[in-house]
Amino acid sequence: MKVHADLHIHSYVSDGEPSPVEIVKYSLKKGLSMISVTDHDTFLGSLLALNAAKDLGKILVIPGAEVRTLWGDVLVQCRDPIKVLRDPIELREEARRNSCVLIPAHPFDLLRLGIGSRVKYKTLWDGYEVFNSTSDPLANLISFIYLKDLGKSLLSNSDAHTLEGIGVSRNIIEVDEMNTDDALEAIRKGLIEALPGYSIYSLLYKLRWSLRLRSFSKTLKSRRELFQTLQESLLHSSI
Ligand SMILES: [Zn+2]
Repeated sequence: MKVHADLHIHSYVSDGEPSPVEIVKYSLKKGLSMISVTDHDTFLGSLLALNAAKDLGKILVIPGAEVRTLWGDVLVQCRDPIKVLRDPIELREEARRNSCVLIPAHPFDLLRLGIGSRVKYKTLWDGYEVFNSTSDPLANLISFIYLKDLGKSLLSNSDAHTLEGIGVSRNIIEVDEMNTDDALEAIRKGLIEALPGYSIYSLLYKLRWSLRLRSFSKTLKSRRELFQTLQESLLHSSI
């Protein structure tokens, strides 16, 4: 059977807005049959969503996390949570021992810590997120052109941080049974078709993100000015 899946969603456990329960309810409404809540460096959001899905019905929640490795962000999806390891080689070993899949997130979105050219270490990765609805079109295009011929699954996820962003970009996955093992195996075998999409919600999120970046650089500027003033006053006091 073929089902719709969004495998990169954030809840309020990390920097997303919605609760895991809200994510499950909204995903069902949007026709998704498979999701993975992938909060930063923790499986907690996905475990809470898994719990909610037991009560709410026909949706498969795959335990997941977006791990900030030493090279950049990597999505980890597993039957059960594993240790969150920063070293990509150690993370690969841990993933192999637990039959997880590793998917570099937004690999060429270097502003958002994509792993960039490290995608070339093909044995480490089970697929690539070539489309991310919160990345700019150029970063997505570079990912697609660079990765389309490597013989791995190409995924398209929302990376939603708001409820309305969920499922705007999604995948069709072909599974025999609706269970996590089958879903992970389908990703390994490339039985996945990307359905990319942008939405006004992902663009608004992006805008908010760049405003945050601007205010961050403003803070840096004012800190630098403060530091210079302090330095000058120290200089004067020593004279
Ligand atoms: Zn993310």
